[in-house]
Amino acid sequence: MAKTSYARVCIEVDTKCTYPDHATVVLDEKRTFKIPFEYNRKPQKCARCDIFGHNNQNCPKLKEGKEKGRG
Ligand SMILES: [Zn+2]
Repeated sequence: MAKTSYARVCIEVDTKCTYPDHATVVLDEKRTFKIPFEYNRKPQKCARCDIFGHNNQNCPKLKEGKEKGRG
């Protein structure tokens, strides 16, 4: 079978998303398929602020803490 099939989907993610690289699908309770995922874009997210827009390393709160020196 020299056929390539794919589906492009638009998904909504929250800041807890771990971007899984595959999903396992079971058909007829016996045939199992592993469906790989590719992501066009993974938005930067910050676990500290719980928002998108920057990542943990570039978090403004991280700099604030260091500059003030009081944590
Ligand atoms: Zn942040």
